Amino acid sequence: MAWQGIEGHDAIVDFFRRAAAKRRLSGSYLFLGPAGIGKRTFALKLAQALLCQTRAEALMDPCGQCPACAQVIAGSHPDVMILSRPDDRAFIPVELLIGDRDNRMGSGFCRHVHLKPYSKRRRIGIIDDADYLNAEGANALLKTLEEPPPDAVLILIGTSPAKQLPTIRSRCRQVRFSPLSTETVADLLISFGWVENADEARRLADWSGGSLTQARELADPTLWEFLERWYAALSRGDFDAITWSKEIRQFVEAASKETFPRRRRLQQVASLSAEFFLRLAQERLAAEAGTLQSAPTEGVDHPIPHTARPSASGWHASDEAAVASAELCLAVYAAVERNANPATLIDAWVFKLRQAMRDEPIAPLLPF
Ligand SMILES: [Zn+2]
Repeated sequence: MAWQGIEGHDAIVDFFRRAAAKRRLSGSYLFLGPAGIGKRTFALKLAQALLCQTRAEALMDPCGQCPACAQVIAGSHPDVMILSRPDDRAFIPVELLIGDRDNRMGSGFCRHVHLKPYSKRRRIGIIDDADYLNAEGANALLKTLEEPPPDAVLILIGTSPAKQLPTIRSRCRQVRFSPLSTETVADLLISFGWVENADEARRLADWSGGSLTQARELADPTLWEFLERWYAALSRGDFDAITWSKEIRQFVEAASKETFPRRRRLQQVASLSAEFFLRLAQERLAAEAGTLQSAPTEGVDHPIPHTARPSASGWHASDEAAVASAELCLAVYAAVERNANPATLIDAWVFKLRQAMRDEPIAPLLPF
């Protein structure tokens, strides 16, 4: 059953409810799991539960109506601070954590956490982009993580454990969030009114990797128009590298004039390209094992036309080529994360991808 409208994380709700009932909440938590599965929403619900004026903390069941609950959701509760990485910065600047160089601890996240609670209940600090703490930022946080004030709860939100510095991991209680089920993603797409048609919700959920954010991004029809042509090129096993470098660049630039949406779109194209090759490899394995089954989306109107879907019959290169191609696409995704120049990256990717797909030896994947 959903807790407070949050689907798919019941075991974590039980974990916090037990800890709260025994008054044994930790001071520092590290929430980990793929993007877009509800970790931030969960952190805010937890903040509500700890500050609600009508329901005791131990119940872990905030009313959602009282002024404190309303302020948490509106982002205006004086005891709750949410810190995110600014769009134009590769890492969370240390000033946002401990204040300016001339006035350390005069402002910033750590100072907020150490102030006395206005509500006389708790101080809560949420770092929404813990993946983007560099060594300097992590060092600035260590003392606060190690010895948070007794009434403070810190929640760091990140994706994979590998992206967290060991100094951070060792000082926080780790809470692992799993991807949402396909059914849950489809239900949420409908209930939020983002998709009207149940079949469409289901097929977007099938491609979402259990991430609601990704499913919502996939609902963009221009993405599928582009993918339909790109997948058709990939299905043929060969394409013109110059033409496709240009096509991908134009599609990425059409996302926005701003940098962030462009980078995000390139990551989408890279991850959906990886998905193409992974599904192709799966289909080949199934075909070899004689257990070829219909795609999981059988019976619904697939967003990709039949001719452009990963097809074992149209693929003449080796299984290794499919896997190498998928790895190449995932390396592009990671390179975007590291702020690689998109235009140079696209050129190198498309050129190498064509080699990989044709079983030709390719230069080392990284650096791009
Ligand atoms: Zn309340």
